[in-house]
Amino acid sequence: MLLVDFFIKRHSCSHDKFTPEKDIGYCPDCGELIENRWFIMRCACCGVKIKAVLKNGAVLANEKFCHNCGCKNFVAERIDKINFIDINYAVLVKTVIPNEIKPYTQTWTDVKENCTHKLLQQIR
Ligand SMILES: [Zn+2]
Ligand SMILES: [Zn+2]
Repeated sequence: MLLVDFFIKRHSCSHDKFTPEKDIGYCPDCGELIENRWFIMRCACCGVKIKAVLKNGAVLANEKFCHNCGCKNFVAERIDKINFIDINYAVLVKTVIPNEIKPYTQTWTDVKENCTHKLLQQIR
């Protein structure tokens, strides 16, 4: 049972060791390519900043309604560079970037074919 728990934990890596200072990079725990994305919430009516929170992977407002105009609709806004004012409102989302197929696949196939040829000669 312990082994199963360990396995599940590894697959739901929270990328804690991947520090917020980096924009993009590989998580030292799971090796996934991670992009740090900062979000703040804004009131949909007056545009005032609302503190953002992360709940079940979704960026939500920490308030039920806008303290400025009473509006209950909010929009998430992604910020490219976090600053010390926005950090009080912002939430960090560690987004996994899926691996893309590299354009070097053909070159690697050629190298592999050469290797197979050499190996076959050695077997004989
Ligand atoms: Zn990770
Ligand atoms: Zn408002």
